[in-house]
Amino acid sequence: MLEIANLSHTYANGTVALHDVSLSIPRGMYGLLGPNGAGKSTLMRTVATLQQPTAGTIKFGEIDVLADPQRLRRTLGYLPQDFGVYPRVSAYAMLDQLALLKGITGSAERRSVVETLLSQTNLWAVRHKSIAGFSGGMRQRFGIAQALIGNPELIIVDEPTAGLDPEERNRFLNLLAGIGDNVVVILSTHIVADVADLCPLMAVLANGKVQLEGKPVELIDSTRGKVWKKAIPHAELEDYQQKYDVISTRLFAGMTIVHVLADTKPEGFEPVEGGLEDVYFTTLSNLRRAA
Ligand code: ADP
Repeated sequence: MLEIANLSHTYANGTVALHDVSLSIPRGMYGLLGPNGAGKSTLMRTVATLQQPTAGTIKFGEIDVLADPQRLRRTLGYLPQDFGVYPRVSAYAMLDQLALLKGITGSAERRSVVETLLSQTNLWAVRHKSIAGFSGGMRQRFGIAQALIGNPELIIVDEPTAGLDPEERNRFLNLLAGIGDNVVVILSTHIVADVADLCPLMAVLANGKVQLEGKPVELIDSTRGKVWKKAIPHAELEDYQQKYDVISTRLFAGMTIVHVLADTKPEGFEPVEGGLEDVYFTTLSNLRRAA
């Protein structure tokens, strides 16, 4: 169990990136959903011991993460949002090196770990190719392979599917789903479908605060019977925004589909079989209105 309590972070320039964040995250897949700038990476980097918060505590099981970061690092797998550089060495050699750095010094054991991870992440066929030449999806799968070295009990993946094509994304999410229920896996993302597809528990972070927390199924139930949709010509969007509580819009076949929030069915609208997107956009829309 990861226990984050009253965590706040203010950057040197005065930006309040996290404000009194408290979350209890059990084993299994946990979705941390939020728009850009919500504070997700700040939270993930803080839990991964890469930066110290201004206030608050983080406990992972018995480990006091802020007081004893070295101990957490021994059981942490972290896939950052951006590796920055991709070395011109083979996936095999790089994993081998990283496994050595993680303390797997016996060469037979290391070979077994590296080869298992390359197969698990579907990189066996390209193990001798340079990482610098990998596609986005291959890089992310390599990222998971390195995060899994040494059987970590806490795995953090920060915005892992951004920029992946649908097939690569699918493959990547399947890989995450296979990690198992005995490990705490935090998936930080701005993509609602990632959370909807994978996570039995989630939180929405926006403006540095936890806005919503729970099981996606129950959160979806809470909007049932309150979200309505209509296809309109794009030119009428502004009128609808004036008249209704529009939570989201999307284009479909040249029309604009608006989703609105209302206790009873507005004239000309149809009910929406609520989904996590509606929950998420309702939350963000309420925040905008409150601002
Ligand atoms: P997210 O990952 O959800 O996009 P971030 O944690 O990256 O959010 O950013 C949260 C807020 O903190 C944003 O307003 C961002 O501009 C700001 N921020 C992030 N890193 C820094 C930094 N090193 N210095 C100052 N402000 C930062």
